[in-house]
Amino acid sequence: MRLFNVPAPQPFEAASSWISRFALSQGISTGEALEHFGADPALKGKIDGMVIGEVLRDIRRQCGLPPTALLVHERVMTSFRKIEPTGDSLLLHKAGSKALFNFCPACVKSMRTPHIPIHWRFIAWRWCPEHDSILESRCRMCGERQSSLVDLAMTSPGKNGRPWFNACQYCGVPFKSFAPCQLIKDEERIDWPIQRKVLVQGRAFLASLFDGYYSANGIVKNDIAGIREDISLKAFEVPIDLLSAEWFRGDADESQFTRMKRRWRFRWIANRYLTPKSKLIDAARENR
Ligand SMILES: [Zn+2]
Ligand SMILES: [Zn+2]
Repeated sequence: MRLFNVPAPQPFEAASSWISRFALSQGISTGEALEHFGADPALKGKIDGMVIGEVLRDIRRQCGLPPTALLVHERVMTSFRKIEPTGDSLLLHKAGSKALFNFCPACVKSMRTPHIPIHWRFIAWRWCPEHDSILESRCRMCGERQSSLVDLAMTSPGKNGRPWFNACQYCGVPFKSFAPCQLIKDEERIDWPIQRKVLVQGRAFLASLFDGYYSANGIVKNDIAGIREDISLKAFEVPIDLLSAEWFRGDADESQFTRMKRRWRFRWIANRYLTPKSKLIDAARENR
């Protein structure tokens, strides 16, 4: 196949997102694109974990892309594979068959080329530091979850001549029409310190994946593969209701008593799921 008009990967873009845009540009399905790149189309939901190393180098070669193409994806997912050699419990997916993502409507709005950054595929990345808001897990209009490996031409926006990642794949409503779920209301923070701790740790975890090392108890460990020995990642493996945009939006309606009870329950969950206090991953870095 002679390739024309190959879309330029965006700096933080997930391989799944780029492959969707690539397939669209070539007038083929994502299944055909995967076959073309020598990846098993049956493993659609696991695609981001597969596009590293030789597979990615081959894609770059075939498409005439520079060695820096999908570099952030590569760094993050190479670390990810060291932690989870075969599984994908840290990623958002639907029974392994669909690669799902959460999204920040304000970030989508500011993208010149709508795409899915790799960190939006991680359960741990629940909070957008740039907009201080909780990511959306589903379309606020129709409630559907969104997939980063999708035949864009077949989505609702695609059928309407706008095959881009900036609108709901099912009902077509533009994401920019959703107000971001901000954590500051009337100049006051609405997240509890314990919630904030989990959100910030999720961000620090992604920074560690990018860097390929982590630091626990202030001690730098060079091999990310050993992270589970120091840090419990359970809070990053399961969606937590009390950290969802739906919950933060509905929170105001709860009575003080329910709120307090919930808070205690969450503190208990977070402390069990996270890690002993002394072993938190150290400081998150900017804009990752
Ligand atoms: Zn954002
Ligand atoms: Zn929708």
